[in-house]
Amino acid sequence: MISAPSGAGKTTLVRKVMEQLPNLQFSVSYTTRPPRSNEQEGEDYHFVSKAIFQRMVEGDEFLEWAEVLGNRYGTVRVDAKNLESKGVDLILDIDTQGAKKVKEKIDHAILIYVLPPSMKTLKERLITRGLDSSEMIEYRLANARRDIEEARWYHYIIFNEEIEDAVEKLKAIMIAERCRRSKNFIFEENKRIWEEDHGKNYGRGLSEKGRESI
Ligand code: 5GP
Repeated sequence: MISAPSGAGKTTLVRKVMEQLPNLQFSVSYTTRPPRSNEQEGEDYHFVSKAIFQRMVEGDEFLEWAEVLGNRYGTVRVDAKNLESKGVDLILDIDTQGAKKVKEKIDHAILIYVLPPSMKTLKERLITRGLDSSEMIEYRLANARRDIEEARWYHYIIFNEEIEDAVEKLKAIMIAERCRRSKNFIFEENKRIWEEDHGKNYGRGLSEKGRESI
């Protein structure tokens, strides 16, 4: 799960890492927020009306949902077993309220918080990207100040000062976590299988190239 104050550069960061690391899938959330000019239905979000969102809440379709800056956002339930069997990791772009709820349900979820180098940089980025009115920018900054406190209980913080450096850091975290999971898998679940047949499943979550090299 990846969280950040708006303007921290999280969307670009995630996009670049997904281009470079195999076996990652982006969880497309549902939202009642209207699409921005550069956003695609089904790629960035599923854009739905308040009524449809409410029906989904009542139908218990969400793993979690939250209200953020006056709009609702929700993550639908996923077939975790199916993803796991394919060795695919799911990336959730989610606010701190949602991250807390998902962590309660999925204990092995990893939480990463992306921060700009300073509040001053964050303000400059919000102004430069030109998506918000000055009131909205002040509102987002006040929200960010409160939200940053929540980064305390995340596993990792990445300072996004220079995008390529942040990309390398996020990739490193993901690769390290995959190695950790492979270790847990082999020792806690399936050592016998691995010993018998060098593990059809051993190395789940690694790229094909990574698996070949084991
Ligand atoms: P934006 O409108 O700028 O795309 O997103 C606003 C906030 O909503 C961001 O902090 C983003 O991480 C969060 N968000 C996006 N999708 C979800 C979701 O499915 N659940 C929750 N709880 N937050 C989300």
